[in-house]
Amino acid sequence: MTRRKKDENVLLITVDCLRADRLSISGYPRNVTPNIDRLASEGLFFTQAYSVSPWTTPSFVSILSSTYPLMFDGDLSMQANRTSVVEILKHARYHTFGLTYHPYLLKATGFGNGFDIYRDITETFQRKYPRHTIRDEFENFVSHILGIDLRWRRIYDAAQLTREAIELIDDLEKPFFLWIHYLDPHWDYTFWRIPNGFNMIRYILLSSRRRRALKTRSLLGDKDIKDLIKINDSKIVFVDRMIGQLLHSLSNHNLIDDTHIIVTADHGDGFQEHGYIHHEYYLYQELLHVPLIIKTPFEKPSVIDHPVSLIDLSPTILDLVGIKKPSSFLGKSLMLLLQNKKDVSAVFSEEGQTIHLKPEIDWKKGTIRLNLNAKQICYINSGWKYIYSDTNQHELYNLTQDPFEKKNLINDERVVASNMRDAVIDHIQFNNSFKQTERQRVRERIKNLRTEIKALRIERPSKRL
Ligand SMILES: [Zn+2]
Repeated sequence: MTRRKKDENVLLITVDCLRADRLSISGYPRNVTPNIDRLASEGLFFTQAYSVSPWTTPSFVSILSSTYPLMFDGDLSMQANRTSVVEILKHARYHTFGLTYHPYLLKATGFGNGFDIYRDITETFQRKYPRHTIRDEFENFVSHILGIDLRWRRIYDAAQLTREAIELIDDLEKPFFLWIHYLDPHWDYTFWRIPNGFNMIRYILLSSRRRRALKTRSLLGDKDIKDLIKINDSKIVFVDRMIGQLLHSLSNHNLIDDTHIIVTADHGDGFQEHGYIHHEYYLYQELLHVPLIIKTPFEKPSVIDHPVSLIDLSPTILDLVGIKKPSSFLGKSLMLLLQNKKDVSAVFSEEGQTIHLKPEIDWKKGTIRLNLNAKQICYINSGWKYIYSDTNQHELYNLTQDPFEKKNLINDERVVASNMRDAVIDHIQFNNSFKQTERQRVRERIKNLRTEIKALRIERPSKRL
């Protein structure tokens, strides 16, 4: 790092389901990301960045707390065991703001920790639906029939989100940390933003076929996949335009020279590359390879091809603003790569569920716990990728020769496979050494006992025989 001031601002922009290969600068044939591309050409562009998980909650747990999802017995709560980078920034007198409307990024599960203002879907839902009305009932009914949630139209809108962020920028005290999460490329949250040539009936029918394919594990036809990609592209175009507006506002406020701007994604999305649409359950490239751009006022533009993990993002943010990372952060600053030190974290990504072995989710308690009997861990090193699975055959791919992971070499490259398996076993043992804290365990046991006692009361017969 050539120069470092204290108290620069940080703008973290995350986009749900945005795959690395959708960036035009990375060779995508359609020009869908002109603003993100420009930022990439002006900043540090990491071409081989990997999310730590293929779905939202564990991925953001890792991004914000620099820990692995399968640690602490798979308990993803940000309350007890994991410290968010936002809490550290708050402690360092940052003004902290979060705008996320993803239903899995709730205050209740600890994602609002450290924020002065954190607008999640619950708060917005209550603001826009103060009372339960007949209209809500009707919308619920129609949503159920159509398979798209009509209420999203009133809760989430990327244009509205951007306006809210720009309003915040107008009034922000410095230094600030602002996180804005765009949902649009995630299938059918923004069903009303459909590209030219589609109409709502065609969209709803496609949505229905997609839902059925997910449920029955059947395949969609080529035409449907092409349409899904076309719709996805149009949503990426819209988000990119919103990001352009946000950056424009930052520039109008003369904040560009004092702000570290980060753009990344929580995971990618599948379009049947491995027989599956959507994300979660698998650790293939289309689900883990994400964009990562860091535009900092103090570094010249650079393209970094070294594989990196988003577990290093929070340590990097703290390094950029001159704050020492806490010992609970396992990642390292990616700025080390600019000093020609390769000593950043190894690339491990994790999943803790299968179609049949689900995680435990209790929205009321705000707890999400991965299923430790459904562990999958992938390890990427020197162009190789090993996928360990508790429930399936292990896989090995040569990413240099086979970037789309079509040929499993697990039985052909036994030495590579054995070495990489050993690394994964070490990683599992490392994760296992971080157990859920005793305090958290006792607290949960008390809660469970209360629930059990309540249930007993309900089941007691009203009259004694
Ligand atoms: Zn997501």
